[in-house]
Amino acid sequence: MNVDINRNDNNTDISYFKKEIKNFIDLRKWSKYHTPKNLIQAMNIELSELSELFLFKNIDKNEIYQDEIILKNIKTEIADVFIYLVSFINSLDIDLTSAFIEKMKKNRVKYSIEEFNDGNFYKK
Ligand SMILES: [Mg+2]
Repeated sequence: MNVDINRNDNNTDISYFKKEIKNFIDLRKWSKYHTPKNLIQAMNIELSELSELFLFKNIDKNEIYQDEIILKNIKTEIADVFIYLVSFINSLDIDLTSAFIEKMKKNRVKYSIEEFNDGNFYKK
């Protein structure tokens, strides 16, 4: 039985993705190609593929949800970007959670609620 069918964002943590992607690459002996430089470039290419879906179109969220094909293609390209991001994280043995916590601490200071609220900027 495939246990992955019951997974979603609410019951899956980052270690699952890190292990799955590492295993996928190890089984194919691709680690020699998954260097930080190659992974950053691959991630940029996949991000461009995501961007291309929106090129010369003015589509909003409602239009995306009404178009099964574009929504499917967006999900595919998001997964591609994410897979390369996680592989990049794996290649440098970075702990994503601590990097995220550190950056969010900085963001809370840089974009304080006193200065940024209601979608407006109130300079102290
Ligand atoms: Mg792609």
